[in-house]
Amino acid sequence: MPLHVVEHPLLQDTLARLRDASTPSDEFRALARRASVLLAAEATRDLPTAEGAVHTPLEATRARRLAARVVAVPVLRAGLGLLEGFLDLVPSAQVGYFGLERNEETAVARCYYEKVPRDLGDAVVFLLDPMLATGGSAAMALEGLRARGARRVRFLAVVAAPEGVARLAEAAPDAEVFTAALDRQLNDRKYILPGLGDFGDRLYGT
Ligand code: URA
Repeated sequence: MPLHVVEHPLLQDTLARLRDASTPSDEFRALARRASVLLAAEATRDLPTAEGAVHTPLEATRARRLAARVVAVPVLRAGLGLLEGFLDLVPSAQVGYFGLERNEETAVARCYYEKVPRDLGDAVVFLLDPMLATGGSAAMALEGLRARGARRVRFLAVVAAPEGVARLAEAAPDAEVFTAALDRQLNDRKYILPGLGDFGDRLYGT
């Protein structure tokens, strides 16, 4: 499974501030949005374009416009922190939602909400879930996307753990992962180390 660790200096600087335990929620939300823009720029790099005419104030010329159906699917709730940044870059994207929560004791994911287009065969789907930890919820979401016909799926995570990457590679070898960091490991509560803590809690101050 292709894993892209995006080394852009602006993304790495953003990640450093997201990791910092003293970063307050309002700043954390702005940084999450910025991280999403930078990850999305990389993950959309090869989308197709179609050439057409455009009239500048001076003359007619040729120009290339995006020619792909893009669907963004944030995984609730932490994935919402990446949605606005993604839509800043691709305002024409359709948006679907998966509500997945993991049991705090067992770390097993459960789907409590879904609203995703059913006909994803012609779309490039961007799954937004900032922490790729065990890979359990990512694998569940990818299965849901595949059941809706998705063939091209890109996973945007701010931080990934080796365990999650391995699980996804097994469950969805054709999906691509874009992340700012591949961290060391999970702890016994399935949090990523060094990580940045609970992304949803930090985003919403809970
Ligand atoms: N989810 C989080 O928010 N943080 C982790 O470290 C792992 C899963």
